[in-house]
Amino acid sequence: MRIGSGIDFHQLVEGRELWLGGVLIPYHKGGLGHSDADVLLHAICDALLGALALGDIGVHFPDTDDAYKNIDSKILLKRTVDLIKEKGYGIINIDSSLCLEAPKIKPHVPAMQQTIAEIAGITINDISIKATTTEKMGFVGRGEGMVAYATVLLKSLG
Ligand code: MG
Repeated sequence: MRIGSGIDFHQLVEGRELWLGGVLIPYHKGGLGHSDADVLLHAICDALLGALALGDIGVHFPDTDDAYKNIDSKILLKRTVDLIKEKGYGIINIDSSLCLEAPKIKPHVPAMQQTIAEIAGITINDISIKATTTEKMGFVGRGEGMVAYATVLLKSLG
């Protein structure tokens, strides 16, 4: 078995859509980034890559490459999952945390779990998505940005 962890940050700005866990969340701000800035899916991709010491999301999907401009991060997650499978591993479970001051995340968690489950080929019971604020402290507390953390466990299928 192999364990991996990932972390990602994005600014929250006016005039962008807010994509989290592959789901479009109604809000007046969204993530600033080269892709759709889905901070949660990016942290999960990094955790998957990290588990097999395959570098990070920036190595596989460089933000200098126009091919990834405004790309749907579900595509990045699918490609990462395919790479993990090619290496002979399957996902046991994913645990994650989202840190942002607003909007409320809990109502959207089932849709995120379903979206990730379909891409990762595991059940929603194997995908944990937790959410917290930072009690108004720091850049997250001021609503300037968001952070996601993810941990994954992989098993060798060989
Ligand atoms: Mg990112």
